[in-house]
Amino acid sequence: MFEQLAVDPHVRRAIDDAVQQNRLPHALILEGSDDETRLAAAREIAMALVCEGTGKKPCGVCSKCRKAEAGSHPDLYLIEPEKEGAFIKVDAIRTLKAHALLRPNDGEKSVFILREAQMMNVQAQNALLKILEEPAPHVCLLLTCPSRAALLETILSRATAFALSNETAGDAADVQTAADLLGTLCTGSELDLLLALAPLQKDRDRFRAALSAMGPILRDALVLQGKTEALGGAPEQSGLLRRTLTQKQLLDLMDAARSASDALDRNANLNLLLTWFCSRCSEIRLS
Ligand SMILES: [Zn+2]
Repeated sequence: MFEQLAVDPHVRRAIDDAVQQNRLPHALILEGSDDETRLAAAREIAMALVCEGTGKKPCGVCSKCRKAEAGSHPDLYLIEPEKEGAFIKVDAIRTLKAHALLRPNDGEKSVFILREAQMMNVQAQNALLKILEEPAPHVCLLLTCPSRAALLETILSRATAFALSNETAGDAADVQTAADLLGTLCTGSELDLLLALAPLQKDRDRFRAALSAMGPILRDALVLQGKTEALGGAPEQSGLLRRTLTQKQLLDLMDAARSASDALDRNANLNLLLTWFCSRCSEIRLS
């Protein structure tokens, strides 16, 4: 996939593997690069999702691929600002929702591309949230935007983001810390986790870096399978997480890491935050 597009090869491979193995999360955020590349990538993913070819998807030759290519596939929807710089308003999302409730016309999936998703106003983002919370199994949402930072936290916590360019794993030491913590979470007790977090008690920056390295490791656990290349830099831990935790637990952990990171930015008390993070992780583990 995306052979003609300037997309980070690791990201290309991760998305391609998820598509071929039918493990693509129901909501993706494609960020980074430029609008044209993001849209082209989203269109290709959409085509792959409706493709009925038997080999690698999209095959480009089946009737579904041809309809997608021609822009005439009845289950592919493009929602975008009416003009450059205009907001995507709540009505557009309500229309999306009405379509999402219906069965697809022509196959197994309905795919909604939300181009320039950062242009959704808050009302529109909140309306979208309702769909993300209880997605019908046939619905796939592809949001494109320059940066995930422009979307509401609640949206981010229910979607999987891919940076089409310049995404790299964190610093090796931070990846190691994050991987150790996540490993302890899978195999140890709450006390083990608290002990593993203890060295971070005096080091805000290290905790922050470890939290940000957790995101890609957890994301790998959600989308990767087997020996495919991991973006998070800790393929073994991602595999362990995948085998140990459910998709919901993985998403909740991503959310917890993000919340902790935000609290650090707001200058929260480090010890209290570590204790909170530890108990939140244990709660997720037991959920
Ligand atoms: Zn096809």
